[in-house]
Amino acid sequence: MPTKIYSIQNLDCANCAAKAEEKIRKVPGVEEASITFATMQLRLTAEDPDALLPQVLAAARTVEGEIQFLPREDAHHEHHEGCGCGHHHEGHEGCGCGHHHEHHEGCGCGHHHEHHEGCGCGHHHEHHEGCGCGHHHEDHDHHAHGGGELTGILLGGALFLVGLLLRGLIPGVPVYILAFLAAYVLLGWDVLKTAGRNLVKGHIFDENFLMSLATLGAFAIREYPEAVGVMLFYRVGEYFEHKAVERSRKSIMEAVDLRPETVQLTSGQIIPAGDARVGDLLVVRPGDRIPLDGTVVEGSSRIDTAPITGESVPVGVKSGDSVLSGCVNVSGRLVIRVEKVLSESMVSRILNSVENAAAGKPKIDRFITRFARIYTPIVVVAAAAVAVIPSLFTGQWGYWVYTALSFLVMSCPCALVLSVPLAFFSGIGAGSKRGILFKDGLSIEALAGVKAVVMDKTGTITKGDFTVKEADDELLRISASCEQYSTHPIAASIVAAARLRGMVLTAPEALEEIPGHGIRATLAGREVLCGNDKLMARHGIAVAAAGGVTQVHVAVDGALLGSVTISDTLKPDAPGAVAELKSMGLATAMLTGDHPAAAEAVARDAGISRVHAGLLPEEKLEKLRLIRAEQGTVMFVGDGINDAPVLAGADVGAAMGSGADAAIEAADVVFMTSQAAAIPEAVRLARATQRIAWQNVVFALAVKAAVMVLGLAGHASMWAAVFADSGVAMLCVLNAIRMLYRKK
Ligand code: ADP
Ligand code: MG
Repeated sequence: MPTKIYSIQNLDCANCAAKAEEKIRKVPGVEEASITFATMQLRLTAEDPDALLPQVLAAARTVEGEIQFLPREDAHHEHHEGCGCGHHHEGHEGCGCGHHHEHHEGCGCGHHHEHHEGCGCGHHHEHHEGCGCGHHHEDHDHHAHGGGELTGILLGGALFLVGLLLRGLIPGVPVYILAFLAAYVLLGWDVLKTAGRNLVKGHIFDENFLMSLATLGAFAIREYPEAVGVMLFYRVGEYFEHKAVERSRKSIMEAVDLRPETVQLTSGQIIPAGDARVGDLLVVRPGDRIPLDGTVVEGSSRIDTAPITGESVPVGVKSGDSVLSGCVNVSGRLVIRVEKVLSESMVSRILNSVENAAAGKPKIDRFITRFARIYTPIVVVAAAAVAVIPSLFTGQWGYWVYTALSFLVMSCPCALVLSVPLAFFSGIGAGSKRGILFKDGLSIEALAGVKAVVMDKTGTITKGDFTVKEADDELLRISASCEQYSTHPIAASIVAAARLRGMVLTAPEALEEIPGHGIRATLAGREVLCGNDKLMARHGIAVAAAGGVTQVHVAVDGALLGSVTISDTLKPDAPGAVAELKSMGLATAMLTGDHPAAAEAVARDAGISRVHAGLLPEEKLEKLRLIRAEQGTVMFVGDGINDAPVLAGADVGAAMGSGADAAIEAADVVFMTSQAAAIPEAVRLARATQRIAWQNVVFALAVKAAVMVLGLAGHASMWAAVFADSGVAMLCVLNAIRMLYRKK
């Protein structure tokens, strides 16, 4: 069944998102629905999602009246200078593309786009509705965000101060009441209006309603400054809470969305990146980001792959080399031939992977959703009890009703519902910035709880590019002919060595690759075996054991012809990474199909305590299960291609260094980098994310509990209640976003 993604607009609170999601799931015909507040996306699985949209929208609108779902296109947003996203933003002035980019300072979301009509560039820049780029734009008539909102709050605040002054200076004359009233109307109008609207729909525990009730109640008992002050504080709290959420979302998206807006053809013409086709020739100047995946056809340069792989050393590229979009061209002018259109290029794949990851909810999130469902009714019942029971004994109805109202103000679990998914989202974003792609929130949680890290040898601990040490021409030519269609790193190195010697390879008539063994082929009518001692043993061919080196034996028609000696080098940062994993309290182990002697030498150099060598792919899984039974949750790091069963069998499967060809869907974590240091880094990020999520849960609940206890003890304060509600939510959001700014 197809799943379609829609971008959401006019959705204000995370708690409403959860409720709307629940309502949508109940729409007949909807197989699965999930709303991700962090990316403002709806994923809808149904026979025909588009056809169901009207019903889905109606269902969601019973919760959030103005919500909008818009089909997601691969629209791009404009970038502006100094946005920190690292894009090179040419073309603002005299770029010749005829489109004009005007950006507003201090809009907060950073994405306010003013577009001119008839720009003539042929692409439509109306971002206000349906831009589908997943960013939230300021300009929807949205009471919670615009600049007008701040003005209202400031004016209201000023009037409030005037009221306080008047009351202090001329206490006899009640004109100050007028000032308070004016301030209240100014500050509370939207809140009262929304409360009324929601009340009609039957949402009595709507936050706006509770605030209206609490402040009108204060007016009724002539606590004018209290009424206005609390409303002011509420508005300020909400304002900053929304700002914090929006900023956070924006900075995460900016960190991961490296898609170019336009590309420049060699003819000088600038076209929207989405219109570039395979085969187009693009100019990439020094300082520019490589817009699309391609091949260099002219020029040479160094490119900084850090935005994609997290690896900080620039690599040299020249004509014929392929380059990934998202990397930054450092030094020379390049002309690249487009190999992949925008939607298939690395930049889009990374963005998709992050958005998918944000949609996969962690366990803690489910727990909070369930908790939120019971939290509100419990608080409401408690509030009712607080209003009535003590009053019956003390007769102080005023105080206890007021306390009950303060409870109600805190009855929204917003802080949790908002900040926990955001913590995971920023963990995912922080990972993506370092070339570590998490599949979803669950993978982060699992990784945070990992007790042992099991690694593959080739390509994980070693570089995976073997060099051929010894081989005579005949041996090399035969083995390379057998290996030319294999993707194994050993095969690649043998073929490369043969090419280096200028050999012409023959195509085998028949070919079979036996995992963990090698190749069996028919070459010029002769049966050739090319692989390890196990392969030879299977065919009854005796070979002498070699110590500490990897050998590929070649046998022709049942007789050993000779052995190619190959060697691989340890990744320079492997020993450091292993030491770090150990210092984090993790057990380490290595599994390999290679010969025990060669394997042990590598493990010793890397500092890995436990080695299992000579394993077939299925035996690797057995060993992994053994380690798991002994140590607990395990992470397996492999190259993702021939280790698929082991990756799937581990609690956390990580594919390493497979870059562009990574089967991003298969693993729980994909390392875009080939550095071993990414392994401890990923565990650290996961642990930090998990820690921050829990900090938020504990902090938010503790503050609310404390304010409630104070109320029960006779120190009820609406101010404290408002702080416990939106103030805490804002602090939790800021705490969540901390992940993104963590140092490596
Ligand atoms: P690992 O990734 O741990 O090296 P593999 O299962 O990929 O494990 O390979 C195990 C062993 O099988 C290799 O060390 C090599 O000896 C042999 N082998 C596998 N594929 C090939 C091949 N295409 N050519 C030669 N030997 C191979
Ligand atoms: Mg392997």
